[in-house]
Amino acid sequence: MIQTDIIIIGAGPCGLFTVFEAGLLKLRCHLIDALPQAGGQCSEIYPKKPIYDIPAYPEVLAGDLIEKLMEQIAPFKPGFTLGERAEFIEKDAEGQFIVKTSHGTAHRAPVIAIAGGLGCFEPRKPPVEGLADFEGHGVEYIIKEPDIYKGKRVVISGGGDSALDWALYLANGVAEEVTLVHRRDSFRAHPDSVQKVLDLAAAGGMRLMTHAEVIGVNGGSDGALAELTIKHKKEGASQLEVDHWIPLFGLSPKLGPIGAWNLNISKNAVEVDTFDYQTNVPGIYAIGDINTYPGKLKLILCGFHEATLMVQSAFKRIHPDKSNVLKYTTVNGVNAF
Ligand SMILES: Cc1cc2nc3c(=O)[nH]c(=O)nc-3n(C[C@H](O)[C@H](O)[C@H](O)COP(=O)(O)OP(=O)(O)OC[C@H]3O[C@@H](n4cnc5c(N)ncnc54)[C@H](O)[C@@H]3O)c2cc1C
Repeated sequence: MIQTDIIIIGAGPCGLFTVFEAGLLKLRCHLIDALPQAGGQCSEIYPKKPIYDIPAYPEVLAGDLIEKLMEQIAPFKPGFTLGERAEFIEKDAEGQFIVKTSHGTAHRAPVIAIAGGLGCFEPRKPPVEGLADFEGHGVEYIIKEPDIYKGKRVVISGGGDSALDWALYLANGVAEEVTLVHRRDSFRAHPDSVQKVLDLAAAGGMRLMTHAEVIGVNGGSDGALAELTIKHKKEGASQLEVDHWIPLFGLSPKLGPIGAWNLNISKNAVEVDTFDYQTNVPGIYAIGDINTYPGKLKLILCGFHEATLMVQSAFKRIHPDKSNVLKYTTVNGVNAF
């Protein structure tokens, strides 16, 4: 049984930063994540994409942000249970929570912080026959390593930020050929990205196919993806030789086991009180993308703020007789805490 002060379910950016803020209050943390590495969406979905709205970082790659967070929390020596999903929560006779994982690892603490983000990641897959045969052999739903597309013929499907941003990125000297396929002629992406795509397509820097969708996949003699069938609303079906197809239709939010923990849930998110980000179950908090409240924004910055307030409340719960005075880290540095 792993004993700690706060069990953090989810090792995304918000779960990681909780360790830092808890550490300043001398609270120990143990993180559980279903993925084999820390970093949540930043590591799993867009490690090589730049983020521009982290205070004091004009630009930082998502993967680098996670590296920095890991460095920042290292002095507080958090524990990690990675590659295991938190499945069950129960309370023992002393009022402590026991969290058990898919692999049977048991954790015990007076406080739980759920930082489960989008829950367990499940990309939305297009209903194309035989698609599964090419997963990992030319079909990817997440771009983890953009270098694999160097000199390749790539088709991206989708009309959101991810699809357009990656199409622009890969068309900028990475892939040999980029085609963006979208069912409509209007896009959900940021207007600036839409304009850039339209301009680049007009200049011949990428191919843009609107009112079109991929309806078929074919392999070559090596079993890897070699050809797509693309159906255009007016012009009918045509074949396109490709090396990679990247359908970017987003992730379907799947709360997974979190939905069965007797928490108040609204639209796939856990309801919290904005006073301290506590759920309807005293001692269980929810921070970051997983929570919801009036005015909620799913941003890393907001999750950091929620983590900071949350640990203050957790401290009072864990040490009801102790008072806590806010100290600046500048006074004696992190090691003094
Ligand atoms: C393409 C893209 C670009 C983005 N750009 C920006 C940006 O520029 N600025 C910005 O602020 N935000 C951006 N975001 C959003 C940002 O990534 C999220 O707000 C942030 O990752 C939320 O952090 P989190 O720690 O709450 O959750 P997540 O990063 O989602 O991490 C949650 C973790 O919990 C784990 N988990 C879930 N359920 C369980 C369970 N039962 N057991 C164990 N583990 C579990 C998951 O495996 C995951 O690792 C972007 C998102 C995407 C997809």
